[in-house]
Amino acid sequence: MKIKVLGGGREVGRAAYLVEDGSQRFLLDYGVNFDERDMPRLPQHVRPVDVSGLIVSHAHLDHVGAAPYLYITGRPKAFSTKPTLEVARLLTMDFLKLNAAVIEYDMREFENLYDNTVFLDYGETYEEDGFKLVFANAGHIIGSSITYLETGSGRRLMYTGDINDRETWTLPGAETLETGVETVIVESTYGGRNHPPRHVVEKRLLEIVEETIDRKGTVLIPAFSVGRSQEIAALIASEAPYIEVYLDGMIKDITDIYLRYRKYLRDPALFNKVFETVNFVTGTRDRKKIINKPCVIIASAGMLKGGPSVYYLKKLHQNPRNSIIMVSYQAPNSNGHKLLEAGEIPELEVGRVNARVEWLDFSSHAGQKGLVDILSRYKSTVRDIIIVHGGEEEAFSLREAILEELGSDVRIHVPNTGDEIDVA
Ligand SMILES: [Zn+2]
Ligand SMILES: [Zn+2]
Repeated sequence: MKIKVLGGGREVGRAAYLVEDGSQRFLLDYGVNFDERDMPRLPQHVRPVDVSGLIVSHAHLDHVGAAPYLYITGRPKAFSTKPTLEVARLLTMDFLKLNAAVIEYDMREFENLYDNTVFLDYGETYEEDGFKLVFANAGHIIGSSITYLETGSGRRLMYTGDINDRETWTLPGAETLETGVETVIVESTYGGRNHPPRHVVEKRLLEIVEETIDRKGTVLIPAFSVGRSQEIAALIASEAPYIEVYLDGMIKDITDIYLRYRKYLRDPALFNKVFETVNFVTGTRDRKKIINKPCVIIASAGMLKGGPSVYYLKKLHQNPRNSIIMVSYQAPNSNGHKLLEAGEIPELEVGRVNARVEWLDFSSHAGQKGLVDILSRYKSTVRDIIIVHGGEEEAFSLREAILEELGSDVRIHVPNTGDEIDVA
């Protein structure tokens, strides 16, 4: 069996791994990432006729953003959970709005992908031509999956996709299956680090919120519209229900999908209750009303790259009574990163930011310890581990940690994009 790394080798995102076994070729994800100038970068080319099956692990664009390219001329069969493609549809529309000039597909191709997808629930087995496929909950965002694949010749592979081992307010932690896998493709976004305990980070956020509201300030929390916004809203609504929470941006449409696919959530009843109590902002009049109110505003985009979070930043940044809490990953060169590093964002021409600015680690990726723990469950059968979806430093640091835990009988690969790996 051969694995071609078409993207995601020593880099975060652009996940695309082609698994070849005889005449069967499975493509695990086909995503994009962005260069320093924020231009989308595609994975290496693969002909749609050469794909026996496309597996979409979750809705983030770095896993599905290039997949519609395969449906311009082809119709390969795809596999995912239902909420994955429902969320992906909204993210793809948004992506095309910003990048239509450089992306050569449109929503028609996305709908072709959707129409050719076999939707599987967690734990449901799909079998055809001797290959077997099962998804398990990856704990990362709604519908996110760990892929268990058995090829026609009986080789067993596990692909983590993006994975979170820890339970959150919205999702249960990753739920691995007890199956003897020989090859593992593992993400390494935080392969070199461990996260602080979740309860400590949550307590810190609630403290900042309380302090700000006490001095009659407003809290702005720029957050990703998928997962992070719902997580923060659920935390505040559950632990400090007397605080008014407002949500603005694409968050509403995404939350509707979360509500429609409630069975994927950790506690569907709690989620329902939370989203009956929080407020959705519907227009400019609403916005003007809340900017002078002691409340929490959760708004997309998470890195302050457009969206209502930028509007609120411009209104709230001058007043030292206000707080801005960053809870999402901040890419280098992003507006959010500049705000944290320099305390100002020249591109937005807002001048000096006087509001209190904090960053808290609410990551939805497992840290090093979590990843090693997941891999050690396969200690007796695993022979090849392929580390992807992480920068060089993170990937090699994870390699060291795995070696220590699993010993040298396992071959651990840290491929570059473009590399081909022969596995037993
Ligand atoms: Zn990813
Ligand atoms: Zn992801």
